[in-house]
Amino acid sequence: MQEQTRNGYIPQPIRDGAGWWDLGPRDVMRDLENPDMLVPPTTDAGTLPNLKFSFSDTYMQLNYGGWSREVTVRQLPIATTIAGVNMALTPGGVRELHWHQQAEWAIMLVGRARITSVDQNGRNFIADVGVGDLWYFPPGIPHSIQGLEEGCEFLLVFPDGNFSDLNTLSISDWFAHTPKDVLSANFGVPTSTFANIPNHQLYIFQANVPGPIESEQVTDPYGFVPKTFTHRLLSQEPIVTPGGSTVRIVDSTNFPISTQIAASLLEIKPGSMREMHWHPNQDEWQYYISGTARMTVMAPNGTARTFDFRSGDVGYVPRAFGHYIQNTGDQSVWALELFASDRFEDISLNQWMALTPHQLVQQNLHVGPEFMNVLRKEKQFIVKHPGYSYYPRQHK
Ligand code: MN
Ligand code: MN
Repeated sequence: MQEQTRNGYIPQPIRDGAGWWDLGPRDVMRDLENPDMLVPPTTDAGTLPNLKFSFSDTYMQLNYGGWSREVTVRQLPIATTIAGVNMALTPGGVRELHWHQQAEWAIMLVGRARITSVDQNGRNFIADVGVGDLWYFPPGIPHSIQGLEEGCEFLLVFPDGNFSDLNTLSISDWFAHTPKDVLSANFGVPTSTFANIPNHQLYIFQANVPGPIESEQVTDPYGFVPKTFTHRLLSQEPIVTPGGSTVRIVDSTNFPISTQIAASLLEIKPGSMREMHWHPNQDEWQYYISGTARMTVMAPNGTARTFDFRSGDVGYVPRAFGHYIQNTGDQSVWALELFASDRFEDISLNQWMALTPHQLVQQNLHVGPEFMNVLRKEKQFIVKHPGYSYYPRQHK
């Protein structure tokens, strides 16, 4: 039975003769983007809940000054440990002065922004961030973000799947919901001072592009925050794997303020694969920045499911579930693994086996001694993969 129709580009749910043509209704564009959903590998088994959500399927909050959209437990119900927000700000656009109960971890994806904050001891932090830079605001610490000349886009991450960035504490809301005589008494000024304050939360608003950072510094009698709120992740020396792929791990050991989010930034080269592994300490929330990939997740009792990913997708792996990520394209996959933890921790299947008595492993898996000799005692993170293509499906 033909696996493809006459024009050769329409995939069909047929694998080695099993299945049949999908005569419609169908969404061919989505089928083309999700070949492992249409034709799962034969090794997939059982029922695993959805582990993927695209930012393209979320509500877009449009404001003068920028936009935001989010993937939370409301979009991806299994993702209880982390929520993510994708936001863009115009040149001068401001995510207004606000705060929230959750910590905020962020990475700049495009452009530059100026961030400001003041901690509980009155120490301020004002800095400019560019592509590949991180910032971290501890829980409850007030802050703002403003796009610089070129505007910007970034990913915000919160260690609480229930978080919503549309549901935070903002300075405009507090002013709007406080009687003007109370504002007058609090600041020691006449009530007329507040004649023109916003009567609702601004969230994002358009302002002028700020001047050079030197011109915006505010002298602080209490000094600067003792631990920096930013980290230049892309400038961090990466772990370079044998195939030339790179891994940059960032957690509280090298970014000390970041005690509630740990991350690794992966560059999986074409023909490479994030090795079979799991994380003993926390669920993994993934964000795909560029490239195309597929991930299979193995759950207890032989359950396994494969998902396809591209830029703007979120993936999720429950704690301790085995998984690997293959690059399925001809460009690098850049992706983030994020954890609601102070530490990045992972267990490599290969390293575990290499450091276990060889007789035991051989008898467990019915493999010979020659296999034991190629196991690696050093963690590889990303390994070479002989290649993978969907059409025609080839498992080399
Ligand atoms: Mn925030
Ligand atoms: Mn992982």
